[in-house]
Amino acid sequence: TSFAHFGFDEQLMHQIRKSEYTQPTPIQCQGVPIALGGRDMIGIAKTGSGKTAAFIWPILVHIMDQKELEQGEGPIAVIVCPTRELCQQIHSECKRFGKVYGLRSVAVYGGGSMWEQAKALQEGAEIVVCTPGRLIDHVKKKATSLQRVTYLVFDEADRMFDMGFEYQVRSIASHVRPDRQTLLFSATFRKKIEKLARDILVDPIRVVQ
Ligand code: AMP
Repeated sequence: TSFAHFGFDEQLMHQIRKSEYTQPTPIQCQGVPIALGGRDMIGIAKTGSGKTAAFIWPILVHIMDQKELEQGEGPIAVIVCPTRELCQQIHSECKRFGKVYGLRSVAVYGGGSMWEQAKALQEGAEIVVCTPGRLIDHVKKKATSLQRVTYLVFDEADRMFDMGFEYQVRSIASHVRPDRQTLLFSATFRKKIEKLARDILVDPIRVVQ
């Protein structure tokens, strides 16, 4: 598979070429067409597999389709991950590729300034990258709303469970409209993750790195 198979427009292709990616990674080859097709997906993949771009590119396509349909406030895509470092990494890829369409990303994570993050959220962003507890804090304080979210990603779900975020993960899923698209990434696929997938995904396709 080459990048041309994904059917991305010239703007996004240009940015991918600028990143000096010569060919899609296995998780991108398998995952991107599924995500572009609107299906829920379970990705069993580790850091270094290229999984971040595998969900970001379809997010951008989704938002550009969605933006015409729906005005309103709050993010259209939310990416939930376990740590501040991962949040910042994902956020920087969102900015790198999102800027070709003028899309904005905000990162909100535990340990960062609530006030500064709230200000960034209120200025508006189509994409929010977050750690689970901090997103819930902002929603409770009405710094943002999940009502416009139609694309939800949980990255490194097994690590979030290990860190005790299961309740928060499930809470976020329950506050986003049920007709959303949901992607779940995890390095391992143990019983608890399988159960989560059954509870929050609809008829998912499973992809193994
Ligand atoms: P990830 O697994 O998403 O953390 O990505 C690991 C690294 O691979 C990141 O630095 C990405 O920028 C890079 N990357 C993502 N996709 C590709 C690709 N198709 N070719 C080469 N590098 C890539």
